[in-house]
Amino acid sequence: MLYDNHNRPIQYVRLAVTDRCNLRCFYCMPEEGIKYLPKQQLLTYEEMERICRILAGLGVSKVRITGGEPFVRNGLMDFMRNLSRIPGINELAMTTNGVLTAPHIEELADLGLRSVNLSIDTLDRQRFHRITRRDELPAVLNTLNKLLKANIAVKINAVVMDGQNTDDIGPLAELSRQAGVSVRFIEEMPFNGEGTHYPVLHWTHKRILNELQSLYPGLQKIQDGPFSTSYDYQIPGYPGNIGIIAAFSRTFCGTCNRIRMTAQGTLKTCLYDNGVLDVRALLRSGATDNEVTAAFLKAFAHRPANGFEAERERGPITESMSTIGG
Ligand code: SAM
Ligand code: SF4
Repeated sequence: MLYDNHNRPIQYVRLAVTDRCNLRCFYCMPEEGIKYLPKQQLLTYEEMERICRILAGLGVSKVRITGGEPFVRNGLMDFMRNLSRIPGINELAMTTNGVLTAPHIEELADLGLRSVNLSIDTLDRQRFHRITRRDELPAVLNTLNKLLKANIAVKINAVVMDGQNTDDIGPLAELSRQAGVSVRFIEEMPFNGEGTHYPVLHWTHKRILNELQSLYPGLQKIQDGPFSTSYDYQIPGYPGNIGIIAAFSRTFCGTCNRIRMTAQGTLKTCLYDNGVLDVRALLRSGATDNEVTAAFLKAFAHRPANGFEAERERGPITESMSTIGG
């Protein structure tokens, strides 16, 4: 098992396979003028597979595929099949917006995916269109139904945004009435690609909890999973869970077991850092596996203690979450 300089195990990598997306969620990307990375600046599938093999050799056992939208990159399922064969990777996961996902669900089940994170901020078609700037809610709900039919558990990710979807907290929480559905409410973070954020975050994890408690006075606290980023709850009688993720308040850093590879091949050892290692340059300079391993180990030995420290050590945040993967 690999530990960082704060004695936290590193077991989980989130891999953004593209920075491109078929939606334009306003909290993630500007509507226009996005400068997508030229293809040669993206990691190739071969490079990503090599990185995952090296990380698996160091003790990383879980890989989450994210983006941008993973399904806008050609050849994704072949890549996932190759990943599923890497010794030591015993959990393959995915975060998707669900627009292009439905035709691949059987194959995802076949690859052993037991759970998919599906982003849905609202169940209202007009609001969905306003938030994502695309009219794709029916396709996303079709994906949700097909995932459940295929016995793949679904974690709904919903970013809670002041003045946008706070009326959806109840209807989204109701989805946990179905077995196999967890609903996670996420604090909005300052990664909209425009370098802007609110002076004060109005919908903090505490306010989200207050809202849920007023809607469901019997809301029960349940045990949080190990290394989980969410505070977990259950509505009495509903089989699914409700999670609240303090992504902006950063209350979970003390048990963070994850690292990130951005679409352009930069290692982030904290969501809020500015990238700590150019792995793409290292691979393309002809580095051996041992040299890449040594560079990873050095980075893990200098991890910031938490997201506040990471943010202090960098310049202003200007990037889009679509390059980071969430
Ligand atoms: N396109 C896929 C999707 O939307 O599920 C995967 C990539 S997306 C960047 C991963 C997650 O990050 C999504 O659940 C999304 O809601 C979340 N996210 C994006 N921007 C965010 C922000 N500014 N604050 C909080 N969460 C954000
Ligand atoms: Fe695309 Fe996901 Fe970002 Fe929305 S959150 S714009 S779906 S990458």
